Amino acid sequence: MDIKNCKRCGKVFGYTGNLLCPECVQKEEEEFILVKDYIYDHPKCSAYEVSEVTGVSVRSIISFLKQDRLESVEGLSGLLICEKCGVPVKSGRYCPKCIAELKKETKRLLNTSGENVARAEEMGNAGKNARIYVNEGKYNNNNNNNNTK
Ligand SMILES: [Zn+2]
Ligand SMILES: [Zn+2]
Repeated sequence: MDIKNCKRCGKVFGYTGNLLCPECVQKEEEEFILVKDYIYDHPKCSAYEVSEVTGVSVRSIISFLKQDRLESVEGLSGLLICEKCGVPVKSGRYCPKCIAELKKETKRLLNTSGENVARAEEMGNAGKNARIYVNEGKYNNNNNNNNTK
C-alpha cells in the first residue's frame, strides 16, 4: 500500500485513491452536510456567513463548489470565478462558455494533430484488443471443452 500525506491534516496514511486520510474524509463529509443544511435554510447567505456559522472554512466551501456538490446554491454564486476567463460561475471550474470552447478545442486538436489522433486510435485499439483477448480466452476454453468430449 502506498503511503501519502493527507492533503488536509498532513497525517501519513495508506493511500487508497483519496487525497485525504479516512478521518478527514469523514470530517469533510460532516462539514459538507453542515454547509448544505445551512444553505438549505438560508439560500441567500454568503459563503463567509456560512463559514462563520458552521465553522467550516471558506476554502472547504469553495472546494465543495468546485466539486459541483453545491450546485443549486444561489447565495454562493459570485464566489467562484471561471478559471479561464474570470466571469462568476455557479459551480465547477469553468463557465458554460469556456466549457463549450474547451470542448471545441479538444475536438480541434484531435482533428488536426496527427499525433493526438494516433494516440486516440491507439487507446481505442488497446481497449478493443483487451476485449478481443478476453473473448478469445472464452472461445478457446469452449473449444477445449468440445475437444475433450
Ligand atoms: Zn487528514
Ligand atoms: Zn469562462
